[in-house]
Amino acid sequence: PATSMEELVSLCKRRGFIFQGSEIYGGLQGFYDYGPLGVELKNNIKAAWWRSNVYERDDMEGLDSSIIMHRLVLRHSGHEATFSDPMVDNKKNNKRYRLDHLVKDQKADVQAKVAAHMGVDPENFPALVAALNAEPAKASEALRTSGVRDAFSGEIGDWTEPKPFNMMFKTTIGPVADEESYGYLRPETAQGIFTNFKNVVDSTSRRLPFGIAQIGKAFRNEITPRNFIFRVRELEQMEIEFFCTPGTDEDWHAHWLEKRLSWWEAQGVPRSKIEILDVPKEDLAHYSKRTYDLMYDYPTLGYEEIEGIANRSDYDLGSHTKSQSELNLVARVSENNDSIAKLTIPHPETNKPVVPFVIEPSAGVDRALLAVLSEAFTKETLENGNERIVLKFKPHLAPIKVAVIPLARNKPELVELARQIKNDLQKLGLGRILLEDSGNIGKAYRRHDEVGTPYCITVDFDTLGQSNEDSDVSLKDTVTVRDRDTLQQERLKISELAEWIQAKLK
Ligand code: ATP
Repeated sequence: PATSMEELVSLCKRRGFIFQGSEIYGGLQGFYDYGPLGVELKNNIKAAWWRSNVYERDDMEGLDSSIIMHRLVLRHSGHEATFSDPMVDNKKNNKRYRLDHLVKDQKADVQAKVAAHMGVDPENFPALVAALNAEPAKASEALRTSGVRDAFSGEIGDWTEPKPFNMMFKTTIGPVADEESYGYLRPETAQGIFTNFKNVVDSTSRRLPFGIAQIGKAFRNEITPRNFIFRVRELEQMEIEFFCTPGTDEDWHAHWLEKRLSWWEAQGVPRSKIEILDVPKEDLAHYSKRTYDLMYDYPTLGYEEIEGIANRSDYDLGSHTKSQSELNLVARVSENNDSIAKLTIPHPETNKPVVPFVIEPSAGVDRALLAVLSEAFTKETLENGNERIVLKFKPHLAPIKVAVIPLARNKPELVELARQIKNDLQKLGLGRILLEDSGNIGKAYRRHDEVGTPYCITVDFDTLGQSNEDSDVSLKDTVTVRDRDTLQQERLKISELAEWIQAKLK
C-alpha cells in the first residue's frame, strides 16, 4: 500500500489518473478532473458496485435522477435548515475555516487550551466541537486566547464567532430570476430516490423489502476542500436506499454492514484497514436512528470516512409525504403541505399502508478510488536492485486490461499483427485493450506496471516466423505474455489468447 498521499498525487498526475480542475486558469479548489486512466478506474469501480448491488440481487432497482432539484425537495429533506458546517473567519487574513477542521489542525497543547476554555475533555473531540457550536461567543474567545493558528500559513487568528454555513450550491433556473426560480444542486443522490419512491413502486410492483440504487454526482460547497480527492466540492456517490418493514430495520442494517465490508474486500480494500465506527448518538445526522461509519486508513490522513451506513428510519419518506398525520410516523418530521404524493406501501403482513424504514449504504466514488489506488500501490525492489512501482489492482478494476506491444514500431508486419490481436481481444468486452506502439519495450513495461495493466502481450519476430536461421520456427504464431505481479513471461499461441485472457480476467 501507499505510505503517503504525496506519492499517490504524483503518480496520478504523471500517469494521467487525476488532474486539478480548471488547471490552465490557475485551478479551482475542490474540483478535480479524471484523466484517461482515472475515468477507466472510476467506471470500473462503479460497474463493480452496480453489478454486486443491482444485478446480483433480486431485491434492487436502479435509478438515475436529475442533479438539479426543486427547492422544496431540499427544504423538506431538512437540508435547507441543517446541511451546514460551522465556520469561523480569521479577521487578520480574511480567510474562512471550517471550525472542526481548524481545531483538529492545531497542536495538542493548543487543542487542550481550547478544550479547557470550553470546559470539556480534550480527548473527546466531538464534544469539543459541539461545545464550540453551542456557545459562539465563548468559542471565538477560546480560539483567540488559545493562540489558534492557520495550520498552513502559521498565522495566529483574530477569530469571529462561529456561524453555520450552508453547503448547498444554489442555482437560478430559467430566464426569469424571480424569488422562487431557483433550485439546488443535490448535496446527496439520496433525495432523488425518495422523490421517485412512488414512481418506482408503481412501475415495478415491488413489495417490501426492496432497494433503489443510484450512482451520480453530488455537490457540496465545502468550506475547506482538501486532501486531494478526499474532500471535494463536486463528488460522486454510490447510494442505496433499502426500504424495509419497521421492526426489521436493525437486521437489515446488520445485513448491509456485512455486505458492504465484503464488497470492499473484493475491491482490494481489506477489512483489516477499515474500522467500524458506531456513531455516538449525539453526533448522528438529523435523520439517523443509528449509523455505522466505515473508516478507512488513508495514507497520511489516517482513519477517515469512506462510507456511511445509516438507519434513516421513516424520516425521509415521512418528510416528503402528504397526509403525515395519518401515518403514525416514528421520526420527528416537519410539516409538509407541499407534497402531492402519499409515500406508503402495503405492509407485507397486514396489507395496510405503511411508511417503510430505510437503510442507506452511501459510499463516495472519489474516496473509493483513493482507497483502491492506495491499496494497489506497491514499491518493489527487483533482483537487479532496481525499484519498480506497480499498481496491483484486482483485474476487474484495472484501467487497461491488456497492452499489446509490437517489438518494433517501424516494422509494419509487427504493428499490423499487434493491432489485429488488440481488435480481437477488444471484442471480448473485458474493458480497455491498448495497442502500445511507443517502440521501447522496457519503457512500455514500466509504464504498464505503474498504471496496473495485468498483462502485456508482445508480438516479436518469432511470432512472424521471421527470426534468424537458428531460431525455433515452432514459435510462429505465438506471443509473449508478461504477468504484472509475478513478472513471469510465457509463450502462448495467438489462437489460445482469448480464452486464456478471459479466464485470467474473470
Ligand atoms: P464527512 O464527515 O467526511 O464530511 P459526511 O459524513 O458528510 O462526510 P455523508 O453525508 O455520509 O458524508 O456522505 C456519504 C459519503 O459521501 C461519504 O462516506 C463519502 O464517501 C462521500 N463524501 C461526502 N462528502 C464528500 C466530499 N466532500 N468529497 C468526497 N466525498 C465525499
